[in-house]
Amino acid sequence: MNPRPTLPFVNPATGEQFGEVAMNTPAEVRQAVAEMRQAAVVWRQKPIQERVRIIRQLQKVLIDATDEVTAVLNRDCGKTRQDALVEFFITINLMDRYCRSAESWLRPRRVPSGIYYFKRCYVEQRPYGVVGIIGPWNYPVVLTGTPVIAALLAGNTVVLKPSEVTAATNVLIEQLLNRVPELQPYVRVVHGDGSVGAALVEAAPDLIFLTGSTPTGKKVMKAAADNLTPVICELGGKDPLIVLEDANVEEAARWGVWGACFNAGQTCMAVERVYVVEKVYDAFVEAAVREAQAFQMGCTADKESPYSMGPLTFERQVHIVDDHLQDALAKGAKVLLGGRRDQMFMQPTVLVDVDHSMKVMREESFGPFLPIMKVKDEAEAIRLANDCAFGLSAYVWSEDLTRAQRVASQINAGTLVVNDALSHFAVTQLPFGGVKHTGNGRVHGQQDLLQFTQSHSYAVGRTPSPLDIATHLRKPGHYWLGAGIMRVLFGVTPEQRLQGVQELANGVKERLPETPPSSAPATPSP
Ligand code: NDP
Repeated sequence: MNPRPTLPFVNPATGEQFGEVAMNTPAEVRQAVAEMRQAAVVWRQKPIQERVRIIRQLQKVLIDATDEVTAVLNRDCGKTRQDALVEFFITINLMDRYCRSAESWLRPRRVPSGIYYFKRCYVEQRPYGVVGIIGPWNYPVVLTGTPVIAALLAGNTVVLKPSEVTAATNVLIEQLLNRVPELQPYVRVVHGDGSVGAALVEAAPDLIFLTGSTPTGKKVMKAAADNLTPVICELGGKDPLIVLEDANVEEAARWGVWGACFNAGQTCMAVERVYVVEKVYDAFVEAAVREAQAFQMGCTADKESPYSMGPLTFERQVHIVDDHLQDALAKGAKVLLGGRRDQMFMQPTVLVDVDHSMKVMREESFGPFLPIMKVKDEAEAIRLANDCAFGLSAYVWSEDLTRAQRVASQINAGTLVVNDALSHFAVTQLPFGGVKHTGNGRVHGQQDLLQFTQSHSYAVGRTPSPLDIATHLRKPGHYWLGAGIMRVLFGVTPEQRLQGVQELANGVKERLPETPPSSAPATPSP
């Protein structure tokens, strides 16, 4: 018998292999979905307060495991312990908000009954059933943990397929979930590569939630179409930063560089391209080089590490980053700082003389690059920011908030941020997601929980429709009454409403019993 294929745990900073996990087979994936379908019947019947109580136990387990989590993120992904803590902090913060608000966010809501005044109308949010969650490697805790928690709170059971790249983190996530015995029957983790993700899609869960690249999003949507399984996608980004002439250039450069280099640039809403109005271009470039020089590259396991940026997480990223840099240089870009790679460590790299013929300005680089382009004015900046297949976040820097918001409102992206970068992801109630090739999902806040539910509408009351005007029981005159009611209620002009009144009068006349013939003798004509 062939041994089971395994996924190795590899430390990108050192190349050390420190463990492995066996991959699940497609049959096991189908089994996991079948088990979770049965378990869903029990989980969805638990009152929301009960589901919150159980998720709170997980919250306690996670907080107790803080050092374990930051240690595995450090070893598995090459994040500094401090950066790992940022990811974990956001996860716990979101979890806490969802536990506090789930009951009110998911409560049935009344809607006006309108002309059906004899019924009480309301909408109830019901879970889908089993949600297949497929996660990426760049933030393997927050981007798998948060959808798992949102889906569970909404009443679904979950089969989670995290990325093969972060296998050690995935094993820890599975162990932490299993430390809550009351939760254990309602969530499964399956380990494996893209083929295991494909097997999960094929197993037809009731909803698929994917965070990943745009090509994978297309594949998953095509495969899911066979079963008409709905798919929520959170896909790639190429987020622009616009620096207007009235910006605080020092701050724009500081947070622009941080937005480009945090997690070695491997962030979906990273600053991936910069457009600076010509008046402040030189000052911005000078400040950006200075800020980028301040980054310390390296990776140790210390909680108080002296380093600010670790390695790229795996080999595929190295190839993409090298390719984008070579392409830019071949087409005339200049490196002002960085541009070198030592093993998996890519230096923070400031590029100028870039344009939209270059991959570094059009495709997701996911590396610590800050390509800066000079623009004539805000109109050109807006045009170039929108010249992109993706639309996740966009950043505008200006001291004039009214102007910055006006510029932001013309950029086609899911989140618009004025005078900051990245930090909006930590706002637990601000929906986060994209447009265009970035997909259709919205995480954070009420929308996050609601996307794991379907709305079911109720119309409840003792009497059926008293309006026989709309049924086969209609009588003569009902046409006039119907048309009259419509014009009186919804008429746009006084003439339409007046015509409605006349039609109502006609209808009433038709409905009146006919005058009986008079018994008096006819008056003889003279
Ligand atoms: P990938 O698309 O490579 O993978 C995402 C997940 O899909 C992984 O678990 C992967 O498995 C799995 N997968 C691969 N092929 C298939 C398939 N045919 N069917 C089902 N599942 C499959 O993305 P990355 O992991 O590289 O993540 C980085 C990407 O995610 C970037 O593009 C980034 O912008 C995006 N992202 C988007 C965010 C957003 O909020 N919009 C947030 C964070 C990241 P395996 O890895 O094991 O091959």
